Amino acid sequence: HLKAHFMQELAVDIRIEKTSKSRLSEIDLKNPNFGRDFTDHMFIADYENGKWGDFRIIPYDDFKLSPATSAIHYGQSIFEGLKAFRNVKNEEEVLIFRPDENAKRLNASAERMCMPSFPEEIFLQALRELVDLDRDWVPNVPDSSLYLRPFMFATDAFLGLRPSEKYTFAIIMSPAGAYYSGAVKVKIEKKYSRTCQGGTGFAKVAGNYAASMLPALEAQKQGYDQLLWTDSSEHAYIEESGTMNVMFQIDDTIVTAPTMPEEDTILRSITRLSVLELLQDWGVKIEERRIPITEIIEAQKNGSLKDAFGVGTAVTIAPISTIGDEKEGDLELPNWEERELSQKVKKHMQGIQKGEIEDTKNWVF
Ligand code: PMP
Repeated sequence: HLKAHFMQELAVDIRIEKTSKSRLSEIDLKNPNFGRDFTDHMFIADYENGKWGDFRIIPYDDFKLSPATSAIHYGQSIFEGLKAFRNVKNEEEVLIFRPDENAKRLNASAERMCMPSFPEEIFLQALRELVDLDRDWVPNVPDSSLYLRPFMFATDAFLGLRPSEKYTFAIIMSPAGAYYSGAVKVKIEKKYSRTCQGGTGFAKVAGNYAASMLPALEAQKQGYDQLLWTDSSEHAYIEESGTMNVMFQIDDTIVTAPTMPEEDTILRSITRLSVLELLQDWGVKIEERRIPITEIIEAQKNGSLKDAFGVGTAVTIAPISTIGDEKEGDLELPNWEERELSQKVKKHMQGIQKGEIEDTKNWVF
């Protein structure tokens, strides 16, 4: 149903104001400046008097904001991240992976932060029209993509502490080059927490990322690429990694921590959902449960820990080479290039995303 909608019907009228001068010729799409260069246009909608309106696609430009803007002071600010790829079998076609799931997660985040939900069908229509207008910005280089960043923030010019009455929803887009494809060294974090039970971990809230920066910098100074976050009450269970969920392969079983509704501290990764579905189809044993640190250390020592990897939009699958523990030191994992299962899943996921492998799941829009 949603897919039909995506292709045909219009949920709302989106006013389109095109730029008079494209910046595309100034950009090297073979070597894009991810996160700094943005496409010619952006989508914006405003929430006021209890409803969304003024849907528009306009030239990419700065916002003009009051210094009292509520999002700046009290952090009602949420976002999403997803990618558009060129179909390798038909480069005229641009594919977006499971945007309906991002729309749902945005609204789960909104609910936790007392923000209004944004209608899923308008989210999808806005993505489609914006990506279509700036489709020449989707890189045509293997493993490159156009990163899509929907976000919503509170715009009341008011310093009183209460949910804002006005919001802006916007989508901006930035071309992204081939992702780093080596293995990462992670540190088990036992001092800091990015979130806690009853907190906002399951929501994609700006503040979660602010809270993660100092611990991540400290880990980098110690020579690690990323953190493995643990539960905030005991620091005894592994939850997720930097901007990825994590999976472990112990003998033939994939073990991963649960997300909502079982666990409210972990972001519900759309890559995770998809990888689990593929693994299930392939008959792989899966356990979704809490993961004691001691179990992982024990498994590494007795040789049953075959694989550990992060899952997320940025890299799809990020193999973990080393797990650092303050007591045990650095635990080394088997050579990542020889880990068959996760490499196969990565190829399959990326194949579906780029149109190389048939999308039997109906994931691609
Ligand atoms: N966890 C966190 C904290 C994240 O920021 C992300 C990136 N959105 C993920 C996991 C992975 O989620 P996804 O697969 O939807 O990108």
